[in-house]
Amino acid sequence: MIRFHNTLSGKVEAFEPIEPGSVRLYTCGPTVYDFPHIGNWRAYIFEDLLKRFLLFSGYKVTHVMNLTDVDDKTIRGAGAKGVSLEEYTRPFIEAFKKDLETLNILPADHYPRATGHIQEMVDIIKVLLEKGFAYRKDGSIYFAIAKFPAYGRLSKVNLEDLRPGSRGDADEYEKESVHDFALWKAPKEGEPSWDEGIGPGRPGWHIECSAMSSKYLGRTFDIHCGGVDNIFPHHENEIAQSEAANGVKFVNFWLHCHHLVVDGEKMAKSKGNFYTLEDILAKGYDPREVRFLLLSTHYRKMLNFTFEALDQARAGRSRIRDFLVDLRGVKREGPPSPEVNGLIEAARSGFITGLGDDLNISESLAALFSLIEKANSLMAKSRISQADALSLISFVTEIDKKILMIEPTSVILRVDSAKIQGTAENVQIKVDVSSELDSAIQEKIDERQKARAEKNFKRADEIRKELLSQGILLEDTKDDVRWKKIVLPRT
Ligand code: AMP
Ligand code: ZN
Repeated sequence: MIRFHNTLSGKVEAFEPIEPGSVRLYTCGPTVYDFPHIGNWRAYIFEDLLKRFLLFSGYKVTHVMNLTDVDDKTIRGAGAKGVSLEEYTRPFIEAFKKDLETLNILPADHYPRATGHIQEMVDIIKVLLEKGFAYRKDGSIYFAIAKFPAYGRLSKVNLEDLRPGSRGDADEYEKESVHDFALWKAPKEGEPSWDEGIGPGRPGWHIECSAMSSKYLGRTFDIHCGGVDNIFPHHENEIAQSEAANGVKFVNFWLHCHHLVVDGEKMAKSKGNFYTLEDILAKGYDPREVRFLLLSTHYRKMLNFTFEALDQARAGRSRIRDFLVDLRGVKREGPPSPEVNGLIEAARSGFITGLGDDLNISESLAALFSLIEKANSLMAKSRISQADALSLISFVTEIDKKILMIEPTSVILRVDSAKIQGTAENVQIKVDVSSELDSAIQEKIDERQKARAEKNFKRADEIRKELLSQGILLEDTKDDVRWKKIVLPRT
């Protein structure tokens, strides 16, 4: 059984999708007015974990993530630069998609852009006007929250202080100032404007997600996610608009991740306390280490970002890599041992039970690391056969490929062109340390070891270069040599 914490009820509930076997998921995407920071990536990686676990559990998942390319912030940015919204948001959308791939996040089925769905927003606003949930004022159209008694159920805002008719135009505002919010904003000098039958103007932020979610997922769907900062006013307003217009429940499960903070403060562009993914990679970290860090704290806990925590994530990932590399070295013949099978089954069940319990990744990772510890101790006593080693490798690889996607045996290195012929300078290479070597290469390595032993360093160096040009990187250790297979990156 899978259980999730539902912000709407405030409880952990058993999850059942509307349509058996298939889940419809909407996750609020980036407002593309700047480059994403790792606080945003925390939200997207939590959503990736959720989606991967649903897929792993056998569900088909239809996932929609919007791109907010028209709102107060994008308009302000484009205006300041004197360029169109399209031109202003393009590099941020490109950077977002590139980072998404770098962090091994599964792509959504649809990335609708707000500017491509104005008609759908207008259609909802028309219904809200007809049904009396919306009213016009000074060229704008507002949602009258007093007409929607369920307002506040998600965010538990206090409606007692609500002054009748108080309203605001800003897309974001504090809980203390709960008020009627703009669905459609009157045109202003220098702002983009659309005229689709309700008077000229441009949409408010909240109506965008109501329109794009129902277009791709239907009027009622299973799961809606975001960070906790989205609960109020954004998601509260989405519920009000959608349910008032459609007369049916909007979303069954609301899942929100807690913030990534720095020194106790939410990481945010407006606070200037943020790192982009690129900032961190430039310090020599691997994107999968960043992914591991963001993934390994339970999504409803605050995550305090520090470089020490990132170093711990690196160490955890290396531990899994060392385990896989050591297993590869096991050569002992023998039948599969029931003991090792038992360990794998216990780890599998612990891993799945953890995630099924409101995505309790800590429990899942504890099951994995406990397996590693026990199997390592058997390995030290030579009680692991090659068959056992293969079963262990296949289990760890399976949960990595399907869920964690931290690719422990691959390393991205920045290597300068002098080392690899025919490639650009400081190219990033992906190195796989767990695949098998063919025998011709093994012979070359042996030949080089012999040359080194005979102090024929010239020959040893020639062989090193020759192997490098064939994609094998050698690293000399005190008594031995390690090899790594190099995969050139996609360009
Ligand atoms: P935005 O681009 O500000 O609309 O945010 C995109 C997503 O990132 C939303 O789901 C936000 O809730 C989430 N988000 C923004 N800042 C943080 C943070 N510091 N920690 C976690 N999630 C965040
Ligand atoms: Zn949204």
